[in-house]
Amino acid sequence: MSKFSDYNFNGQKALIRVDFNVPLNEKFEITDDTRMRAAVPTIKKILADGGMVILMSHLGRPKEGPTEKYSLKHLIAHLSELLGGATVLFANDCIGEQAYLTASMMRPGEVLLLENLRFYKEEEKGNEEFAEKLSKLGDVWVNDAFGTAHRAHASTAVIAKFFPAEKRFFGLLMEGEVTSAEKVLHSAEKPFTAIIGGAKVSDKILIIENLLDRATDIIIGGGMAYTFMKARGGKIGNSLCEEDRLSTAVEILEKAKAKNVSIHLPEDSVIADKFDAEANTNVSPSDAIPDGWMGLDIGPKAEGIFAEVIKKSKTILWNGPMGVFEMEKFQKGTKAVATAIAEATQAGSFSLVGGGDSVSAVNKFGFTDKVSYVSTGGGAMLEYFEGKELPGIAAVK
Ligand code: AMP
Repeated sequence: MSKFSDYNFNGQKALIRVDFNVPLNEKFEITDDTRMRAAVPTIKKILADGGMVILMSHLGRPKEGPTEKYSLKHLIAHLSELLGGATVLFANDCIGEQAYLTASMMRPGEVLLLENLRFYKEEEKGNEEFAEKLSKLGDVWVNDAFGTAHRAHASTAVIAKFFPAEKRFFGLLMEGEVTSAEKVLHSAEKPFTAIIGGAKVSDKILIIENLLDRATDIIIGGGMAYTFMKARGGKIGNSLCEEDRLSTAVEILEKAKAKNVSIHLPEDSVIADKFDAEANTNVSPSDAIPDGWMGLDIGPKAEGIFAEVIKKSKTILWNGPMGVFEMEKFQKGTKAVATAIAEATQAGSFSLVGGGDSVSAVNKFGFTDKVSYVSTGGGAMLEYFEGKELPGIAAVK
């Protein structure tokens, strides 16, 4: 691969895989353009060099071929606006005559948006012929879609073989994601604390196991903490519990001990008499929750202990909320963790936040600019931290 920022794209047609999978309302208006904005620096650099940009993306999960609902044409006007009024051409097919013809007539400074890749089932199947057809559109291939880097699809990975190594690039977004993820996983300065929360142990087992070989401390919060509490012999009332994961929880605790990794579970919890924003609440030790009550957030003692661990850390990875942060009564713990991470970052630590719900939490509480890096790739980032090789990264390299 070549380094994107060192390359001059003058006169080149850059075929960029972006992740423009944005939510649209029933009038086909974009309700959150974060993913589009994330690709802008990459596109602008190529245009500024005097290059041409051809964008390919998926949108939603179309089941049977082209449909209005999943057409990328709804993004044209907003894309041009984000690019300061640049000409955005559109091809109503991502391969075929019209796409090739339009691409062949492009002039420097112009952008061509191709129709939804997933209108072809070949995309997700990683079909080689389809990938080759796509590859004919550009002189160089740029992968800037971290969100789909864990998929070996035609446009995200298979296409790589049709470009020589020096014509394959990570875009700026992807480069940022890969650099921060590699820093945390492979060259983390110690102490390294991983904060894992969210609803289910089963979703996070692989990531915890991989982190046992790397982190010095693992903080476990959210609904998944109660499976661990019960596994240790605690009483958890009606809190979330995955009965079939109790033995896994015990194994994780034992492995951590053997590897000298400190696992921090919430000493106390904010408990509620029902899963409801208006529930009655109280505070209880997390291992002595009364029958009929459930833990929906970490308690004040846990907040203090977690904050201390976080503030001592040089590297911090955060995935998953500490409680039901969508409800006001149960968001204090998640906010406290976000605050501690912001303070540690301010003091020079490196912090990476990733995974859908922790990202919405930092956005919701206004901490986005106070952490070192917010990853946009939920599933991709999880798989990366589970220790898997991501096809979208391997293909470029
Ligand atoms: P995940 O997608 O696994 O990261 O889980 C995120 C979800 O877990 C959020 O919607 C939270 O509301 C939920 N959650 C966090 N803590 C708890 C808890 N103690 N009980 C039930 N749900 C929780």
